[in-house]
Amino acid sequence: MIHPTAEVSPEARIGRGTRIWHEAQVREGAIVGADCNIGKGVYIGPGVVVGERVKIQNRASLYPGLTVEDGVFIGPHVVFTNDRYPRSISPEGRILTDADWEPGATLVRHGASIGAGAIIICGLTIGRWALVAAGALVTHDVPDHGLVMGTPARLVGYVCECARKLEAERRRGHWRCPACGRSFELAPLPGRTRQRARSTARGA
Ligand SMILES: [Zn+2]
Repeated sequence: MIHPTAEVSPEARIGRGTRIWHEAQVREGAIVGADCNIGKGVYIGPGVVVGERVKIQNRASLYPGLTVEDGVFIGPHVVFTNDRYPRSISPEGRILTDADWEPGATLVRHGASIGAGAIIICGLTIGRWALVAAGALVTHDVPDHGLVMGTPARLVGYVCECARKLEAERRRGHWRCPACGRSFELAPLPGRTRQRARSTARGA
């Protein structure tokens, strides 16, 4: 289903069962897999690759250089930037063109979710099943299952496939989901050991 007000390039490839809503634009060379939902006013730039069963909410902007794997959730008004050195003009004042610029490659891995209004700087990888909180400004790679929030975004924990926050088990690097019981081996959070030592000292 492609809504009549959407603008889908004849040179884009759209998978079966994908729905594209009002005023969305899909540019030439973009590939969108099967069973996706592309919300109102979404922009999918030239050559952007989107997997299957991806949900992209209203007004998200996916600029060139981006690859989105299967099952990803992209919230409303999310922006994927694609220029690490943004300038309209050269130091001499000449207007820059596409030939002056190399898009930074960004990868969003299987099952990851990006909250509303987040901004993802280009050249990064968002890991499998990671969760980027609403409004985050992501300036570093996010590990698999990583939960990041803030501006700039910091790794504050891990989440399960079911999106619930994991709890640290006694054994270092072992985590468990309180909702569905799945268990994980993931790196300890940065700075955790020190925090714990401090609070112990205060308690004593
Ligand atoms: Zn779970």
